[in-house]
Amino acid sequence: MDCLFCKIIAGEIPSTKVYEDERVFAFRDINPQAPVHVLIVPRRHIASADAIDAGNSADVAAVFEAVPKIAKQEGLANGYRVINNCGEDGCQTVKHLHFHLLGGRKLPEQMG
Ligand code: 5GP
Ligand code: ZN
Repeated sequence: MDCLFCKIIAGEIPSTKVYEDERVFAFRDINPQAPVHVLIVPRRHIASADAIDAGNSADVAAVFEAVPKIAKQEGLANGYRVINNCGEDGCQTVKHLHFHLLGGRKLPEQMG
C-alpha cells in the first residue's frame, strides 16, 4: 500500500521514534508546531477518524492508552493537546489515522 505512515511504521522511511507497542507507533512530526509534537498512529492502516468502527476501535483505544505514557515520557506534566484532522475540511494530509500530541508551551485557545 502506498501510505507514508505505513512505510514509516515498517521502517522503510526513517523517523524519530518516541514510543511503540504491539498496536501503536509514535514518532516526531517532521514540521513541529510546538516544542513537543508527536504523531501517534495505529500500526494497522485506518484511513481516517471517519473509518473508525467496531472492527478497528481496539487499535484506536490503544492509541489513547499510549497518550498519557508518551505525555509523561515527554515531560508534559502541565498539560497538552491531542488533535485529529479528518478529511478535506479537517485538512487531513496523510490518509492514515494519526493523532497529534502537542505541548511544551501554552497553546493557543483558538482551534477552529
Ligand atoms: P495532518 O495534516 O494529516 O493532520 O498531519 C500530517 C502530519 O504529518 C503533518 O504535521 C506533517 O508535518 C507530518 N509529516 C508529513 N510527512 C512526514 C514525514 O515524512 N515524517 C514525519 N515525521 N512527519 C511527516
Ligand atoms: Zn497506512
